Amino acid sequence: MMEDFPLWEQGTRQTYPSLRGALQADVAIVGGGLTGISCAAMLSALGVKTVLLEARQLGRGASWNCTGKVTSQLAGVYQTIADAAGMDAAATYARLMRQSMLDVRELCGKLQVPVQEHSVYVFAETTDDLPALHRMFDLQKRLGLPVAMAKDAGGCPFPVELALVTEHQLLLPPLIYLHALAAFAAEQGCHIYENSPVRAIDGRQLFTPEGSVEAATILLATGSPVGCMSLPRLCMMQQRTCATVTLEGNPPLLNSYLSVQPDELTLRPTQTGALLAWDMGRTGSGKREQRQRILRRTMGALLPEMHVQESHIRQDVWSGDGLPLIGPIKPQQSYLWMATGYSGWGVLNSHLAARCIAGHVTGHPLPEASLFRPDRPSPKLPEGMRIAGAYLQGLTHLSAPTCPHMGGKLRYDPASQRWECPCHGSTFTTMGETLDGPAMQPAEVSAKQR
Ligand SMILES: Cc1cc2nc3c(=O)[nH]c(=O)nc-3n(C[C@H](O)[C@H](O)[C@H](O)COP(=O)(O)OP(=O)(O)OC[C@H]3O[C@@H](n4cnc5c(N)ncnc54)[C@H](O)[C@@H]3O)c2cc1C
Repeated sequence: MMEDFPLWEQGTRQTYPSLRGALQADVAIVGGGLTGISCAAMLSALGVKTVLLEARQLGRGASWNCTGKVTSQLAGVYQTIADAAGMDAAATYARLMRQSMLDVRELCGKLQVPVQEHSVYVFAETTDDLPALHRMFDLQKRLGLPVAMAKDAGGCPFPVELALVTEHQLLLPPLIYLHALAAFAAEQGCHIYENSPVRAIDGRQLFTPEGSVEAATILLATGSPVGCMSLPRLCMMQQRTCATVTLEGNPPLLNSYLSVQPDELTLRPTQTGALLAWDMGRTGSGKREQRQRILRRTMGALLPEMHVQESHIRQDVWSGDGLPLIGPIKPQQSYLWMATGYSGWGVLNSHLAARCIAGHVTGHPLPEASLFRPDRPSPKLPEGMRIAGAYLQGLTHLSAPTCPHMGGKLRYDPASQRWECPCHGSTFTTMGETLDGPAMQPAEVSAKQR
């Protein structure tokens, strides 16, 4: 029996005021997505005086379209880590992901968030995919992950050659989880503000249109860290746009299914059908239409009985080496933290971010925290440099609005009706209002450009 809660509905969610006046806190968190809220809940429970500022409403960013798969089966991410940072790093991260899953399950029990157990299958659709699947199996076994090979992909609605199964994984309703955590944080004394965009950061002070917060530690939990001008850090990240499609119809799914091909589809069950998520490529790369066509073809071939109910576009931040970026943006400014780069796996990584920041603030650092330091050397710098290259290229388009972050020329995407910066992935509404950082200020869009 599938869950009987609406996946993305917020129900009677609590709303929060906007910030007016000046406040002081131990920790100020910018961004009210899964990261900001998870950190606020853990810090407040530890008695740390915490303020959270969200530009729009809680959960309005990437978290809005999270499909709620909570699993240590992160498919290709472990291979990326093993290649870039070595087997020890990949094994440590795998262990932390398994631990986070147990923690999140326990937390959901405490907060009465409904979770459902299921299995996650990574599948090889054709024989061409088999070498990649065997390689993934061997690696994950070595990392100590609980995987097994399966001939039958547990109710997968289309035929597959072979699959890799991880049992006893979770599904949860992401927004219900997020709002339950927010309510808990507020109960513990956290001050939460919505409609309070941070427009400037000066040392330990944050400024919104009508207020300010001074804090000993600041956490930028905004996807790409707002205001970050540090190219080495930005080169470690890539904003990727993801589509989510809600599907109605038969056959009912029992489990989640992930393609072994990097950037291909993931499918999870819902009460009346399924949720399909799909990587549309780097934000601003202009490849959206092409990816959309592939998506339609794939759906027609694999799921002919299902029809599209709704589709959404959001973006998440990938890191160059597969590990999240959690820690001080610059080593010499240990008070200014960032937490992002989850490569599409935000529920468990948000919990990990909360453990890292809580360890830092309470003076008991998580022993593994140094693995996630944003200033670690990036083995994928050449790819990052290509992002910087896109920045220069962006500067040559003269007829578009300019990104307030570093001056790149924005591209308009008619499908999502937003302006996108091809340099670092900031996005803006048609009118120029900031949707995703690192830009903090709105873009100036002239009447002609709207
Ligand atoms: C389509 C899709 C499906 C996914 N499915 C899964 C899944 O099944 N399982 C899983 O674990 N993960 C999944 N993820 C990943 C997960 O959703 C993200 O990693 C996670 O939501 C990131 O949370 P966040 O809080 O870091 O960022 P966000 O949710 O983007 O939150 C950042 C917040 O910062 C706010 N903000 C920005 N600028 C400012 C400012 N200047 N001042 C104040 N606030 C600001 C934004 O409004 C936003 O609310 C999915 C992601 C996508 C896109």
